Amino acid sequence: MATHKLLLLPGDGIGPEVMGQVEQIVSWFGKHGLGSFEIEKGLVGGAAYDVHKAAISEGDMKLAQEADAVLFGAVGGPKWADVPYQHRPEAGLLRLRKDLGLFANLRPAICYPALASASSLKPEVVEGLDILIVRELTGGVYFGEPKEIVTLEDGSKRGVDTQLYTTPEIERICRVAFELARTRRNKVSSAEKHNVMKTGVLWKQTVTALHAAEYKDVELEHVLADNCAMQLVRWPKQYDVIVCDNLFGDILSDVAAMLTGSLGMLPSASLGAEDPATGKRKALYEPVHGSAPDIAGKGLANPIAMIGSFAMALRYSFGAGDAADKLEGAIADVLGSGTRTKDIAGPGANAVSTSEMGAAIIKAL
Ligand code: ATP
Ligand code: MG
Repeated sequence: MATHKLLLLPGDGIGPEVMGQVEQIVSWFGKHGLGSFEIEKGLVGGAAYDVHKAAISEGDMKLAQEADAVLFGAVGGPKWADVPYQHRPEAGLLRLRKDLGLFANLRPAICYPALASASSLKPEVVEGLDILIVRELTGGVYFGEPKEIVTLEDGSKRGVDTQLYTTPEIERICRVAFELARTRRNKVSSAEKHNVMKTGVLWKQTVTALHAAEYKDVELEHVLADNCAMQLVRWPKQYDVIVCDNLFGDILSDVAAMLTGSLGMLPSASLGAEDPATGKRKALYEPVHGSAPDIAGKGLANPIAMIGSFAMALRYSFGAGDAADKLEGAIADVLGSGTRTKDIAGPGANAVSTSEMGAAIIKAL
């Protein structure tokens, strides 16, 4: 059995609390012959700044480069509000994304049946929902140059951001979407705005050509990004995989996130390019939520987003789809039996702690 190298970067706030639960689950999988894992631990964010005066040390960056997957908790908090900008806790995550070349951000929105009634939408709209947003993460308007605020002759100012995409950038993210669709319900919806943006025109042309050349077996549809936002709220189950650029993906993934209830439920993955020699990708898995300083250290954090992120690592980095299904099944069982952390329990309802939720999931396994 191949040994998978995992780097755990718990970070700050509730990061270490939710990572603690994942560690026990990793060890459960190891003990039961469902994978062989070698665990390294490192510091990131404020925790790294306190020790190394940097949001991630060179040593931990090296471990991240060598790992088969990085599990990342969350970073930041009021304690580090005044650290120099280049060392702010978030810089650790940005450095990891950049140095590992993580261009594909995967955000599943899954609505566990037991939580359908907790959504702000009607239960029938979200029950059984299982969609995946594939967002381009390293290009587009967040990075394009020029990016500036210029003072004009009359004293007024002009802000400039530049939306820029090349065909290789569009192709590689769309390729990830098509490949993933093949393992799911075989449908890709490409969201852009070709009606008003040149990058949208190029996006649509590029995805169409790639589809015709290599992915005819997958259903491809084009949808305007604003319409996609509306459809996500109206009838999200029409989608399987949605692929889009950095800006639209930022917005659409947050819309999709809220279909499913609490932030504490949502995992994510960020993938890099496939190494042609080994077939492996650099990858980082993290919950969508932040460090939640308001509840840190109180045992209130929901560990499901972090545990679900490990399930994604099993599926996308370790080729262990069955183990991932098993873990997600255990989460569904625990929710089905009524076990809830505070964020997903109704007002006044009984809630369990972070570690009790972790223990319940292990028991269900
Ligand atoms: P960031 O800027 O790091 O994304 P944020 O300001 O978006 O952070 P979060 O840290 O994600 O905020 O927290 C937002 C709210 O959701 C907080 O009230 C927090 O307590 C709650 N929350 C976040 N994660 C969880 C979790 N795992 N379990 C329970 N509640 C959570
Ligand atoms: Mg946030």
